[in-house]
Amino acid sequence: MKKPIKPASRTRNVAYAVRDVVVIADEAAATGMPMTYLNIGDPNKFDFCTPAHIVEAACRAARDNQNSYGPSDGIPEALTAIRDNQAAKGIVDPLYSFVGTGATEVIDICLTALVEKGENVLVPCPGYPTYDAILTKLEAEARPYFLDEERSWQPDLDDLVARIDEKTRGIVLINPNNPTGAYYDLEVVSRLVELTRERDLVLFSDEIYDRLVLDDRPFVSPASLDPDAPVLTINGLSKNYLAPGWRLGWGTLSGTEAQMGEYIEAIKKLVRARLCANHPEQLAIPVALSGDHGHLAETRRKLIARRDLAMEILNSCPGISCVKPEGAFYAFPRIEISGSDRDFVRELIRATGVVVVPGSGFGEKPGTNHFRLVFLAPEDILGPACEKIVEFYRGYPRR
Ligand code: PLP
Repeated sequence: MKKPIKPASRTRNVAYAVRDVVVIADEAAATGMPMTYLNIGDPNKFDFCTPAHIVEAACRAARDNQNSYGPSDGIPEALTAIRDNQAAKGIVDPLYSFVGTGATEVIDICLTALVEKGENVLVPCPGYPTYDAILTKLEAEARPYFLDEERSWQPDLDDLVARIDEKTRGIVLINPNNPTGAYYDLEVVSRLVELTRERDLVLFSDEIYDRLVLDDRPFVSPASLDPDAPVLTINGLSKNYLAPGWRLGWGTLSGTEAQMGEYIEAIKKLVRARLCANHPEQLAIPVALSGDHGHLAETRRKLIARRDLAMEILNSCPGISCVKPEGAFYAFPRIEISGSDRDFVRELIRATGVVVVPGSGFGEKPGTNHFRLVFLAPEDILGPACEKIVEFYRGYPRR
């Protein structure tokens, strides 16, 4: 008998609830059950398409044989477009930008260059689990700070400040938030910028949904509030430009050269070590950022109608309560149940074929239960799926 190949212990606690739930869904699907997948934030799985002019730019690049490796930071045309786009958001004279294989790689590289084993980064709770997974892999701590459901999921800043210690290196701000759809008040964003300056921390400003603020509120980038604050601004093509499968994102570092110089050199080393991001698709970045944005109005219109439908059905059921999402395409309803939301979701999938993600996969206040629902599906799919959830909930044991 050969000795089993042992995986590294740093992988032991890595989890990503959004995809982990698919294992249960696959088992249900194998029984012949018709399934409705409301677990993954992928617009292209529904009636959203990458705008034609953006697709054409990537295809043209591939046809023109721009299929070589590209520069490690990104192609110059893409970097110029990113810089112009950031300038339009009020981010002036940033120190460095680079293109990554999705925002995910940008986050991975910038966390890897920042944290030592045993250090911590404050992450929103609930929040997007990639940050936790990467920090766990780095043997660092994803330290949750709570978002307050009673105040439309705004961060509880007293709670956040109390959690900073000498091993804290950064704060993650996801605005609009995944999984709650919350959009943060300007005072909250300003206070976080001040805090990072006062405490010499890096603010990870995840703005991947910045064009998907649903109710006409202007978006404010933290880096635009203070050019000297140490901020990483994160964005990409996945959500605003409806191209998640292209795996293209970017990061822009702002602050002072004196404070950020050494950190940025470390980021550049990691950027070079992985060669480059997808090359031909990068030719589509300037076209996306400075071309026609007609798709956004249509996307927001659909999302508002779908959000309102989901809210109406879910909030009509006593025991389910959902704060109205103001951005992105996620809702995070609270459920009064006995037991855990993990069990609830498993039973829901088995009984109805509707796939959502347990709230605990994103973090939640102890003693509360939630699930995350993606409201990208058209009304004729979303409505019946929400009705099934309500019907299943009515028969589920309560506390
Ligand atoms: N950041 C947040 C808050 C997300 O919700 C997601 C994906 O759902 C990502 C980053 C990943 O972005 P990308 O597809 O560019 O890797």
